[in-house]
Amino acid sequence: MPAQQPQKSGEVVNPDDVLDLNANAKELRKAHTRVKMDVERYMGDLKHMLEKLAPAIKQLKNSNKGTQDEIEEVRALYRKEALQRKLLYNQLQELRGNIRVFCRVRKDDRAECCMKFPSDQDIVVQHAQQGKKIFSFDKVFEPTSTQEQVFEDTKPIITSCVDGYNVCLLAYGQTGSGKTFTMMGPESNPGINIRAMKELFQVCSDRKETQTYDLKVSLVEIYNETIQDLLTNDVKTLELRTAGNKVQIPGLIEYPIKNVDDVKKVMAMGDKNRSVASTKMNSTSSRSHLVLMLNVEGHDKVTGAISRGSLVLCDLAGSERISKTEAEGQRLVEAAAINKSLSALGQVFTALRSSQLHVPYRNSKLTQILQPSLGGDAKACLFVNASPDAYNFSETVSTLTFGSNARQVTLGQAKQNISKGNK
Ligand code: ADP
Repeated sequence: MPAQQPQKSGEVVNPDDVLDLNANAKELRKAHTRVKMDVERYMGDLKHMLEKLAPAIKQLKNSNKGTQDEIEEVRALYRKEALQRKLLYNQLQELRGNIRVFCRVRKDDRAECCMKFPSDQDIVVQHAQQGKKIFSFDKVFEPTSTQEQVFEDTKPIITSCVDGYNVCLLAYGQTGSGKTFTMMGPESNPGINIRAMKELFQVCSDRKETQTYDLKVSLVEIYNETIQDLLTNDVKTLELRTAGNKVQIPGLIEYPIKNVDDVKKVMAMGDKNRSVASTKMNSTSSRSHLVLMLNVEGHDKVTGAISRGSLVLCDLAGSERISKTEAEGQRLVEAAAINKSLSALGQVFTALRSSQLHVPYRNSKLTQILQPSLGGDAKACLFVNASPDAYNFSETVSTLTFGSNARQVTLGQAKQNISKGNK
């Protein structure tokens, strides 16, 4: 190295520093080569490992596909099985034509639930002092059940009115147990009746190539053993005429309906008239029975056959027992009327259960109106509604006992009402 050279900047470079730098650079180059070799070796190892793993991964992928295929297969089988079961269930119900009893426990976030649901057909009601009772129904809807789920299970029964059956759905239970919620429901989350109408219009539309349908609806209230037409503001009491299994209500207003909006209009009118009537009579809606009746007449375009079916949806008055000390005057009369009609309903179920020749439909206006829908050739579905809290234990047990008794009713075979056409 030449002797120290003056730099342009005037700085002097120490030759030892240059030597150090040189040595460091050599070390760095060596380190770089080592790292590069290490990386290459590791990459080689990794590649080797991946190559070894590849068949295993492929196998796993295939086996996963196999499992997926198996799951799909089981699903398809399950769907087929469920369909088969539904068909068999319908056939069985058709043969037996009996009354299906569903239990629905309302949602109640305020109270602790005193019930257990061991299966979707059983319910256990427990009380610290009063003990434990077990009931079985065709279906038990827990508090978490939705309006959709409840409707889904009633749909096959409801739609059979389009095929010429008389169909009836009743909601029984103490006031506040969710009868109106189940049957009517709030506008944002409708209950069975609006959903039923929607479904019926859909079924009618699906069959429009071969059938035409006329649908007419009426709405009445039964209060203190009198029948009030809710589709007119005239306060006039309707009379019932029965001939055999047929019931006529002369003067009853029937509104033709073509779509769900028509139904909503009719219901709104009925609701208004009901509240006017109840204000006049100083009653509340829970003290009367609300009966929505739909008549469906179908005309077969090919054969000319006419089918006549009906759907009756009934929100019953509260079933709670009113103690004599609580009730006086008008309340006592109301309580007696409700007691009479609900007892009559129970007696009708008992007579049907034991296949008695005489079924006491005439014991109340309610049972008279329901006769065509509860008689031998009808399909009926009773909802027993209950509150989940321990406070209502004894009312709940009484409601569920009513439902249990009705469940053992075996009607005759459900029959379609079809008459031959002229063609
Ligand atoms: P009922 O007709 O038996 O007297 P309601 O249907 O009026 O009883 O129900 C009482 C209250 O509880 C209403 O405020 C209703 O909205 C509510 N309710 C009833 N059942 C349910 C449910 N399953 N989910 C949510 N709220 C409900």
